[in-house]
Amino acid sequence: MSNDAHISIQNVDMVYGAGQRPLRALAGIDLTVGRGEFVSIIGPSGCGKTTLLRIVGGLQEPTSGRVLIDGRPPRQAQREKQIGFVFQDPSLLPWRSVIENVRLPLQVNRRRDFSAGKDPSALIDLVGLREFGRYYPHELSGGMQQRVALARSFVTSPSVLLMDEPFGALDEITRSAMRFELMRVWRSEAAPDCTVVFVTHSIAEAVLLSDRVIVMSPQPGRIDASLEIDLSRPRGEEIEETQQFVDYTRRLRALLREHALV
Ligand code: ADP
Ligand code: MG
Repeated sequence: MSNDAHISIQNVDMVYGAGQRPLRALAGIDLTVGRGEFVSIIGPSGCGKTTLLRIVGGLQEPTSGRVLIDGRPPRQAQREKQIGFVFQDPSLLPWRSVIENVRLPLQVNRRRDFSAGKDPSALIDLVGLREFGRYYPHELSGGMQQRVALARSFVTSPSVLLMDEPFGALDEITRSAMRFELMRVWRSEAAPDCTVVFVTHSIAEAVLLSDRVIVMSPQPGRIDASLEIDLSRPRGEEIEETQQFVDYTRRLRALLREHALV
């Protein structure tokens, strides 16, 4: 990770419903994420994690404050296909095969195909689905569908990857496998220097994946604490057994108890 700021979130507020009962979802969020850094956001349900991720991705405008990605507004970064998204729901098109789903982000601009993209079949190989390029989503397990979503998110060579509880709907065994899969893809040639903002409910997941974990307080969401995770990479399954890992999960749990009232 280099030290230059890639994502800059500046004093972001979000208020929903301007009427009689406005709901303040985010209050004064300030956060800088370095290029190539993996940052997780953890906090109780309803604290504004999805809202913050959508604002960073240019899917929604904040009520006040601003976000810059490489010094530019998120919408511009999104137009330039610099941002990849993975949500809890893999959102694959059922009438398209695996390879056609992965290729989709390269085609959405009708005027021309996106030329800086990655080879969809190489990405399908990378996520372990080589045999399944011609399959349709309904022929795949939940974990396999989420692998397709992961491959799709990398196809435009995004410099920023935004992930909102991407493994939240998977069983524990698949979920654990997907964490390592994600780290492997993120550190591969497919994603040089890619910056990740990852929303999760899981303490172990946040510690395992991240360079830094941000703790958000309940509504209105604020950033209350952050924890640097100084574990060496690459990180394999054995790391979860180490004292260092266990200590980080303890510290994160204590921070959550202190700040996020969980
Ligand atoms: P999280 O992802 O942490 O669970 P969200 O960002 O989804 O939190 O929601 C934060 C708060 O904002 C919640 O109280 C939610 O009900 C509210 N909220 C989210 N989206 C909207 C919306 N489009 N309109 C009104 N309120 C919303
Ligand atoms: Mg959410």
